[in-house]
Parts: sequence; C-alpha cells; structure tokens
Amino acid sequence: MEKKSGWLQRFVPQKPSDYFAFVFMIVMLWIIAIFELFVVLPIYHAPFSTWYCIHVFCGFFLWLNVFANFYMLITTDTTGRNLGMPSVLKPGWSYCPYCQLNTPARAHHCQVCNECVLKRDHHCIFAGKCVGFRNYRYYMFLAVYLWLGALYANFFHHEYVTEEIGGFGFWTLLTLFTPIVMWLLGYTTVYGFFISFISGLSIFAFMLFSTLLFFQIGIIFRGQTSYERKKKKREYDLGWKQNFLDVFGNKWYLAWIWPTVSSPLPGDGTNYKKTYPDEGKDL
Ligand SMILES: [Zn+2]
Ligand SMILES: [Zn+2]
Repeated sequence: MEKKSGWLQRFVPQKPSDYFAFVFMIVMLWIIAIFELFVVLPIYHAPFSTWYCIHVFCGFFLWLNVFANFYMLITTDTTGRNLGMPSVLKPGWSYCPYCQLNTPARAHHCQVCNECVLKRDHHCIFAGKCVGFRNYRYYMFLAVYLWLGALYANFFHHEYVTEEIGGFGFWTLLTLFTPIVMWLLGYTTVYGFFISFISGLSIFAFMLFSTLLFFQIGIIFRGQTSYERKKKKREYDLGWKQNFLDVFGNKWYLAWIWPTVSSPLPGDGTNYKKTYPDEGKDL
C-alpha cells in the first residue's frame, strides 16, 4: 500500500493548478475518444466495415501514443541525481542552494518540482513536471499526437456537430465557442451544449498545439531551450541536424512509433559544446 501511494504521489501533480490541468486533460481524452468511437463513427461507417476498422486503428494509435508519451514524460528522471554531481565546481557549472549540489550548465532549479532539471526547458502544467534533457522527446511527441488527434477529431465530427446544433452559420459558431452561454440562453439543449463543448475544445486544442509546436520546433532547430530563447542565447547551436538529434536521439526515425522504442541521446545532459565560447558567461 505504501509503495502505491508513493507511486501515485510521484505520478499525480501536487500543485493544485497542475492537478486540475492534469485531471482535465485525462478526463477530456477519455470523453472525446468515447464520443468519436461510439457516437460519431457508427453514423458514417457500419461497425466492422473496412473504414470503421481503419478509423479505430488510427484513433487508437494516436490515443495510446498520447497516454504512453504522457506517462514517460512524467515518470522519467530529469535530474542528474543518478550521475553523481561533482563536489568541486567545474567551469560553467553553478551551485544550487536548494538542492545543495553543483549543477551543470543549462540545468535550472524548478520551485514546483523542487529539483534541478538537466537542460531545463520549462515546467509543464498538464504533466506537473519539468521538461528537460531526458524527457523532451516524450513532450514533443505528446504535443504532436495531441495536435494530430485534435485535427482528426475536428475533421471527423464537424459535419455531425454542425448539423446537430442547427447547421453552419453565425449562431452555430457562437455555440461552439460559448456553449455554456448559449445553453443558459435556451438556444441549445444539454446534448447540444455537450457536443459544442467537445467540438470547441478540439478547435481550441488544435490552435494551442499548432502554436506550441511552431515555437518548440523553432527552439529545437536553433539548439536552444525556452529559457535561452528568452535570453536570445544561441551558444549551444550545433547546426539544425545535430540539434534535432540532441532531442530525438539517433533512432529518431523510429522514436515516433512508440515512446519505449530506444533512441539514445548523445551525451549525458551535463556536457555541452559551446559554439560561441566567449558568450554566455552568465555567472
Ligand atoms: Zn536545485
Ligand atoms: Zn518543474
């Protein structure tokens, strides 16, 4: 029992806002998958027909990859604890007063996770965990699969939803973006509210992940972290090909299939070659 609560405590975010985002995402992933599979799909394709099976396969591939990458993002150790940090401060390293450890360049302390994260990018509120050197790959594939899933869901249910809530037009668009208001005004039913909420959320998710991927792909190709992008630092830029391998590993062409497919990263997250040695002495 004790072990289980430890695992749960490690897996479920402790900060209330992270916890809410985490629960909301898990619940909505289930609701949207059930809606597409049991409500929308049988309307367009007879159960167990070829197209029915193709959609079930594609949908499950996306959905399972979202959960598996999410799981790996949360459970991967992003710190340098297992490497044993040196007691003497090396050039470019700094001392973290919270962890009471020497930490390498590009590692930063997260107040929420309460640990120093190697090549820290940012703290993800949905995972309640920092994205850094070891779990960046899972974060990116999670975002890619959520983006594809949102696109797929929008494409799949748009006809059904618009017809159900009164055909394409101004009021339908308003219902998609403010379903609760339209329901309270009596324009739509409880079911109309429910499907408008799902549809509006899928549109919002698609726009959110399009923006997120646009920024993150730019950061990866420039060999930066979000923190370095804000500071306009490009001192670790090794050229777009090597920068890409630093995130997705040398088996990047297989890594997208499933998160447990091995794709070793170059280095251990503590040593970085500077391409502009005179810059970035930010002591
Ligand atoms: Zn620290
Ligand atoms: Zn964090």
